[in-house]
Amino acid sequence: MIRYIISIYHDGSMDKHKQPSDWHTKVLAVLRKNSGAVSAYEVLGELRVFNPKIAPPTVYRALNALAERGEVHRLESMNAYVASRSLKHQHAPVLSICDDCGRVEEYLAPQVISALSDITGQTGFTSTRQVIELHGRCISCRDRVTS
Ligand SMILES: [Zn+2]
Repeated sequence: MIRYIISIYHDGSMDKHKQPSDWHTKVLAVLRKNSGAVSAYEVLGELRVFNPKIAPPTVYRALNALAERGEVHRLESMNAYVASRSLKHQHAPVLSICDDCGRVEEYLAPQVISALSDITGQTGFTSTRQVIELHGRCISCRDRVTS
């Protein structure tokens, strides 16, 4: 399993024909500032500091477009988003979420997706979208509790 450290960000380079809108860049910047999950309304709140007229649909459209490109991950269990830490946007990540501090880490584990597909494939089920979220306690919070 390949573990990506929280400080590794991709360079944001993308297809010249698919330049992100200004809002995509701003929404991504808000998410990248945080090591934890951020709700769409929290993103909206931060962007409204600079542009009070921004409407919720603008933020949702940007989040959906960024999620489609794999640049952000939607945390289904929290109805929130995190910026992708990996360069390999085509792979569904495994996300660990610390329930104490909210820190989210991303792991690439294609073998996990493959194993799940093998299991569900036995009944003829074909998965089109994969979300794997693990809730628990990060090492910092674990050490704080045990020390
Ligand atoms: Zn923690």
